[in-house]
Amino acid sequence: MERRKAEINPRIYWYLMESDFKIIFLGTGGGRFVTMTQKRRTAGIRIMNEGLNLHLDPGPGALVHSIDQSLNPQLLNAILVSHCHPDHYTDAEILIEAMTQGMTRKKGILAAPKSVLEGSDVCDASISKYHQQMVEQRIEVTPGFRFPVHSINVSTTRAKHSDPGAVGFRFMTRFGDFAYTSDSEYDVDIAKYYQGVRLLALCVMRPSGKPWEGHMSTDDAVRIVDEVRPEMAIMTHLGMSMLREGPEKEAKLIQGKTGVSTVAAVDGMTVLFGTSIRIHAGKQQNQNDLTSFL
Ligand SMILES: [Zn+2]
Ligand SMILES: [Zn+2]
Repeated sequence: MERRKAEINPRIYWYLMESDFKIIFLGTGGGRFVTMTQKRRTAGIRIMNEGLNLHLDPGPGALVHSIDQSLNPQLLNAILVSHCHPDHYTDAEILIEAMTQGMTRKKGILAAPKSVLEGSDVCDASISKYHQQMVEQRIEVTPGFRFPVHSINVSTTRAKHSDPGAVGFRFMTRFGDFAYTSDSEYDVDIAKYYQGVRLLALCVMRPSGKPWEGHMSTDDAVRIVDEVRPEMAIMTHLGMSMLREGPEKEAKLIQGKTGVSTVAAVDGMTVLFGTSIRIHAGKQQNQNDLTSFL
């Protein structure tokens, strides 16, 4: 990239950069133990492109880390929540308050499954009615549902998780598709939802050899990546046993078994998704400091 930058006029270079989708991994932690210790942030993912400003799964820290990274939450125009677990939804209400300019005008999209919006057998509603009525468009999603967000279309995928309503999201852009699995174990139908995506972000909470029903281990990820065969796979939503095992090592394992380029996300990492897929590394603090675990 440095060579490319040097070859062309810097102003044109930045214009090209602007036209790419920016996928910012504000947080790369997942699960209860990483959430309550913040060994990795749990702030979710920001997706931005020419007016599109979307927050995906705003867990604890989404507001603080948005502001910390100069991503003004008042510019948001969509908030997507995949399911009713706290590491995916806790900051949704405060982000809605920011998106609606302090609840002074109806604005933006909130898309989530029924479990998040109304509650289900396993959870109460994650977002209050007070907040839900302030968005311009409240979209209740089920797997296979498709809706426009600004300049792109989004479709929902099926997840197999302890919230039976959980979904993943697939983003359809002029550069092709990228997708986010949310928490899910391998299921034969899951991979079908991601066929043809160029970039696949997987919530790989557990390392190889440590399966957990309803959650993704490295071994599940290998099967999904091998069936989908994206240009690049990114591991995120890393749980405590994954951090102890070493996410980079697990990424190498996925890459070695599938031949698909695989990256373990770090907090603050940005992926530029355009005609090519490029990674900008994020902050490294706390990434390997597990010595004080509990
Ligand atoms: Zn989770
Ligand atoms: Zn979950």
